[in-house]
Amino acid sequence: MRCILCKGNAIETKHTYIQEFDNCIIIIKNVPALVCSQCGEVYYSDVIAEKLEEIVDRLQVMVKDVAIFEYDKVVKAA
Ligand SMILES: [Zn+2]
Repeated sequence: MRCILCKGNAIETKHTYIQEFDNCIIIIKNVPALVCSQCGEVYYSDVIAEKLEEIVDRLQVMVKDVAIFEYDKVVKAA
């Protein structure tokens, strides 16, 4: 896939997703993503983006301060 920003080559890899809220920070490791080899922009597929939203919604209620999760594990628990 071509990067929308710089037209560089986006490569399939695992990415660390970080979402900050007022009350906590959620970190999800090893999320499948496409990352631009040139500018580092991160792209998620629709499926992954949807799942991330679901997961973060659910975790946000439980997490205080900072929490780190493995994508594979939280997806299976969903
Ligand atoms: Zn780029």
